[in-house]
Amino acid sequence: MRLTVVGCSGSVPGPASAASCYLVEADDAAGRTWRVVLDLGSGSLGPLQRYCDPLEIDAVAISHLHPDHCADLAALHTYLSHHPDGPGQTQVYGPFGTAARIDELRGKRTRTDAIINVAWQAGAPVHVGPLTITAQPVTHSVPAYAMRIEGPSELPARGSATIAYSGDADVCEGLAKVAAGVDAFLCEASFLEADDAPEGTHLTAAAAGRVAQAAACDRLIVTHLPPWTDPNETLVEVAAHFSGRLDVARPGMHIVV
Ligand SMILES: [Zn+2]
Ligand SMILES: [Zn+2]
Repeated sequence: MRLTVVGCSGSVPGPASAASCYLVEADDAAGRTWRVVLDLGSGSLGPLQRYCDPLEIDAVAISHLHPDHCADLAALHTYLSHHPDGPGQTQVYGPFGTAARIDELRGKRTRTDAIINVAWQAGAPVHVGPLTITAQPVTHSVPAYAMRIEGPSELPARGSATIAYSGDADVCEGLAKVAAGVDAFLCEASFLEADDAPEGTHLTAAAAGRVAQAAACDRLIVTHLPPWTDPNETLVEVAAHFSGRLDVARPGMHIVV
């Protein structure tokens, strides 16, 4: 599996990054590449086109319906409907209400078949080519899911690999479930311990480190840092709690598991 960070700015787009969007790719035995996009936040459909043609996306997996995670579903709908090589069609997995949210973002109630919407069922695996995605409900200010993605490994002598993505979440059982023993954990760290963080919404950098350490993740990539946070402070705080390989996400980062 290959993971590309398309956008990783927390809560709002930043000067150097769109809001949350990550591309997961895997090849099947016949050599066809399958593509799943994790979240499609504000401004992300632009940079996504550096890495693939949106007509080639097999599925979009939405963690929750805040704009920094789903706003560009409207842009995707337009791209799929109006591109001269289309019309295209993709599956969108998301919380209950995702279809209505897309209508709201588009300002229209006339649906086309560009997007087929499927609501997450907690813990029920979804198959997209060689990829299996399992969503677990997590604690946030609105209904939200974290995801675990399993697929073929591209590393020598490995059969399968796992990636987890927190979406937006505070410490909870769902987060521990998706992260358990994964090769790479893409985990939000919206706050620092010194911030006046509201309970039950987001992780601090220290909490992200503790969750990843308890889950025995091989590698932690902290993400969803707001533009006003210094990534070096985040790194120092996470490193005090996590002993594995650690990075702060940046646009264009490419991870192979
Ligand atoms: Zn967010
Ligand atoms: Zn959120």
